[in-house]
Amino acid sequence: MTETNLSWGRPMLAIPGPSVMPDRVLQAMHRPAPNIYAGQLVEMTASISPDLKAVARSTSHVAMYIANGHGSWEAALSNTLSRGDKVLVLATGRFAHGWADMAAFMGVECDIVDFGKRTPFDLAEVEEKLRADKAHEYKAVLAVQVDTSTSVKSDIAALRKGMDAAGHPALLMVDCIACLGCDDFHMDAWGVDVMVAGCQKGLMTPPGMAFVFFSDKADKARDTAGNVTHYWDWRPRSRPEEYYQHFDGTAPTHHLYGLREALDMIVHEEGLENVIARHAVLARAVWAAFEHWGQSGPLELNVVDPQYRSNAVTSVRIGPPYGTELRNWLADQAGLTLGIGLGMAPPGDPAWHGFFRVGHMGHANVQMILGTLSSIEAGLNAIGVEHTPGGATAAAKVVSGA
Ligand SMILES: *Cc1c(COP(=O)(O)O)cnc(C)c1O
Repeated sequence: MTETNLSWGRPMLAIPGPSVMPDRVLQAMHRPAPNIYAGQLVEMTASISPDLKAVARSTSHVAMYIANGHGSWEAALSNTLSRGDKVLVLATGRFAHGWADMAAFMGVECDIVDFGKRTPFDLAEVEEKLRADKAHEYKAVLAVQVDTSTSVKSDIAALRKGMDAAGHPALLMVDCIACLGCDDFHMDAWGVDVMVAGCQKGLMTPPGMAFVFFSDKADKARDTAGNVTHYWDWRPRSRPEEYYQHFDGTAPTHHLYGLREALDMIVHEEGLENVIARHAVLARAVWAAFEHWGQSGPLELNVVDPQYRSNAVTSVRIGPPYGTELRNWLADQAGLTLGIGLGMAPPGDPAWHGFFRVGHMGHANVQMILGTLSSIEAGLNAIGVEHTPGGATAAAKVVSGA
C-alpha cells in the first residue's frame, strides 16, 4: 500500500508556458495525417493568417514558422539586420538578454540597457539614448512587452512615442511571446514594426509554431538585410505562391489543426476583448492573494506597481528555500505545478530557491485560478511559511466583484 496522496486528479500546470491546452485543441490534433498538397489543410492554413493578425491587431504581414519562440527571435533578426549593424536592447529580465545573445551571435552589435528585474524601461533614459545616436546607428530597438522571468510589463505605445519624439528611424521590434492574447497589444496603433510570438502561451497550442508579424517598413529592411537566409525569409512564408512556401517544406499539419481550434475559441467564440478582460480579472485575483498573504512574512510580488504587472504571469519572491519547497509540495501533494524562478538568481546559488512564478495565461478560468491559489495557501501552511491567512478568500472577492 502506498500512502494517502491528494494529487490523484487532473493535473494543473500553472507555469508560464506551455500553458494549459484545451481538450478541444488536443482533440482537433488527434486525427490521421492529412494531404499536404490540396484540400482541407490548404484552405485551413489560409484562414489562420487573418485570425493571427486579428490577435495582433494588425493588418500588415505575418510569417509562420515551425519553431519555438527562440526561432521567432532569429527570424526577426535575420530579416531585418546585417552583420555589423547595431541595435538598442531594453532589458527588463532574462528574455531581452536572450534575444540580444542571439543577435550578437549573428554579428549584430547590441547596446543593452538593463533596467533591473522589477521595473519597466525608463522611457526618459531610452529617449536620451536615441537622441544621442545622431548618426542613427541603431537599426532597431529590441523590447520585450512582458518579460516572463520577472513578469514586468513595459509600455510599448509609450516607447514608440519616445522613439518618434527623438526622431529616430530605428525599427521597433517587440517580443510578445509571453503575453499575446493575454495583455493588451495593438501592433498597428502602437507603431510596432516587428512582433514575435509563439503558439504555446496565450494561444493555447502545444509548443512548435512561432509567428513573426511585420510592417511594410520592416519588409523594406528585408531588401538589404544581410542576415536573411532561405529558411527564415519571411517573404514567401507571408505571401506564398505555392502552399509549401508557407513553411519552406512540410507544413506542421497537426499543429495547424490545433491552432485553428484555438483561434476559433479566441477570435470567433469568446472574442479577443473578452479574452483579455478575463485575463485581467484572473490576474487581479492572483495579485490580491499574494498581497494579502504578504501582509506578514516573506511573500512579495516581484513587480510592486500594479500597472507594470502582466495578465499572463506573476513572479513571486518568497525567500530561500521556500520557493523550491512550495513548488515541490504542490507538485507532490496537490497535482499543481508552478514555474521556477527564472533569471532572478544564478542556478546553484541558494538564493535561486527563493522565487517562483504562477502562469495564468490562455485557457484559465475561475476554478482553475482559485484552485491554484487555495492550493498555494495549503502549501504555505504545510511547509510553514509565515503569511497572513486568507489570500485565497481575497482572490475570491476579486472574482465575485468582477
Ligand atoms: C517563452 C518566451 C520566450 C521563449 O520562447 P520559447 O518557445 O521557449 O523559445 C521568449 N520570450 C518571452 C517573453 C517568452 O515568454
